[in-house]
Amino acid sequence: MKIENMISENRADCTGCEACSNACPKNCITMRRDDEGFAYPKIHHEICIQCGKCDATCPALNFQSTMPDKLPEVFVAIHPDEKIRRHSSSGGMFTALSEIILRDGGIIFGAGFNENWQVVHTSAENFDELENLRGSKYVQSEIGEVYRRVKVELEKDRKVLFSGTPCHCAGLKNFLGKDYPNLLTVDVICHGTPSPMLWEKYLDYLAQGHEIARVNFRSKRFGWANNHLEINFYDCGFYAQANFQDNFVNQFLNGIIERPSCHECKFKFPNGKSDVTIGDAWGVQNFAPNMFDNRGTSLVILHTDKGKDFFRQTEMVTQQISFDIVMQTNPMFLTSSIPDDRRQKFFDDVKNFPNVPIAVMKKYFFESPQQISTSGRNFQLEVVEKYVAILQHLAARREKNFLLITSTLNGDLFGAIQKNFLNGDEEIGVYVLHSQVGDRIEFFDCLHPNLSYTVMPSVENLLKTFKDFHITEIFIDRQLPMDEGSKNFLANCGLPIRTFELKAEENL
Ligand SMILES: Cc1cc2nc3c(=O)[nH]c(=O)nc-3n(C[C@H](O)[C@H](O)[C@H](O)COP(=O)(O)OP(=O)(O)OC[C@H]3O[C@@H](n4cnc5c(N)ncnc54)[C@H](O)[C@@H]3O)c2cc1C
Ligand code: SF4
Ligand code: SF4
Ligand code: SF4
Repeated sequence: MKIENMISENRADCTGCEACSNACPKNCITMRRDDEGFAYPKIHHEICIQCGKCDATCPALNFQSTMPDKLPEVFVAIHPDEKIRRHSSSGGMFTALSEIILRDGGIIFGAGFNENWQVVHTSAENFDELENLRGSKYVQSEIGEVYRRVKVELEKDRKVLFSGTPCHCAGLKNFLGKDYPNLLTVDVICHGTPSPMLWEKYLDYLAQGHEIARVNFRSKRFGWANNHLEINFYDCGFYAQANFQDNFVNQFLNGIIERPSCHECKFKFPNGKSDVTIGDAWGVQNFAPNMFDNRGTSLVILHTDKGKDFFRQTEMVTQQISFDIVMQTNPMFLTSSIPDDRRQKFFDDVKNFPNVPIAVMKKYFFESPQQISTSGRNFQLEVVEKYVAILQHLAARREKNFLLITSTLNGDLFGAIQKNFLNGDEEIGVYVLHSQVGDRIEFFDCLHPNLSYTVMPSVENLLKTFKDFHITEIFIDRQLPMDEGSKNFLANCGLPIRTFELKAEENL
């Protein structure tokens, strides 16, 4: 059979992995979106030389079920660096594996955002670039020519980590056609991937022309288990909505907007092709309570000796669990998501009303306009203006580094700070203290041109941080609730403290 016949007989066979287009020696396969917004291969027959490489490479067309000799080893794991864990969707396992490869001069491939916030496979060669690959993006990632790039790097004897969905890993393995000792493949437990076209339209709707600073499908602002879609805007606050209440993510989790192949996925266990599978250790509080703190715990499934070897080199805090627990707590490792009965009707409506997909999304959803209007960006516009006024005042005095301590829910502030302070000024740092947890004080974001990372120091380390970064004064939102320990700490830290205040009714 040929891939074109396979797709016309059952569209759901094609995962969109792009192995065929990467394999074509004449570059005569382009990926074209259908009415649902998913890409399928289109062969340009006028250039095709009928070499058959596309058919021979397709993992769906050449699918063979496998059965491992023994069950994989399974662990729950936590990255020891709190900042990395905060920026990761689960426990930071992806970063821990990447760190080993990067330290050895290797290269990481995975799903990131491009400049238009579309999800595409790209590479990272250092720790800064890795940030874009971190975090789950609930949209099908476009591979482009990445399999070819992976091969080039492998042939140079460079260490390579390739990460993606199980169908991406299967696509890469078929494209390469042989094992490479210097390649580590990591796939995610995969619920499925939603339509890129719908994501683009949805994001346009949410942004309403405002420039986007950051998108996080798995914001842990309200805890790992209560994850939110959070979108920050440079000039206009943020949108944050619990994943089950957000139009797009809820429709994804309910099986309306995923690719057809995701409902008949061939690459669930035991048919994945990766060395390591990573996911969320949902329910960890029940089976390994000491590994739960609601900041994210990874589930790690080790399929090969290579995977085990890399896993043991990481600095993750780990605990082994039995394979049975995965079967009980994470069905997506083994089975496909079930499509919603209304899926076909939904996409028929999208086809009939192509300019108003958001209206269609709302029609098939239980979202109410009130929820949107009180869920972040619109609600906080006035408050943002107040903060911007304060920040502009502080910016005028820019001769010192200072620590700004403000309330939670400050995605609005993030955008305002970026706009007012981070215009390439190498000298001034603004450090935003977000909240305190027990006897620790937690920096939500440490915004400095040279230090774009989040730190969560102990009180002792905080004093050292003040010293290291020459922080000379502190500004505090007077209405921020603080425990006695934090108040005492600030009173005795030795730095001058100034307060600012929003009007009571505008307090967040
Ligand atoms: C579409 C999707 C569905 C998922 N469904 C489940 C699920 O049902 N159950 C579960 O336990 N876990 C699921 N996960 C995995 C989980 O959300 C985390 O990605 C995983 O646990 C890794 O987290 P981390 O903390 O190790 O690192 P992170 O830094 O969060 O990991 C990011 C990794 O995810 C990859 N990635 C991100 N977005 C995509 C994408 N669109 N396509 C391909 N690769 C991508 C990156 O390349 C990188 O390897 C899903 C992930 C994705 C992307
Ligand atoms: S048969 Fe060969 S040339 Fe034609 S599309 Fe397939 S890979 Fe390309
Ligand atoms: S190689 Fe991938 S994209 Fe190409 S036909 Fe097969 S499944 Fe579809
Ligand atoms: S569910 Fe299966 S087909 Fe869909 S993106 Fe994940 S691995 Fe690919």
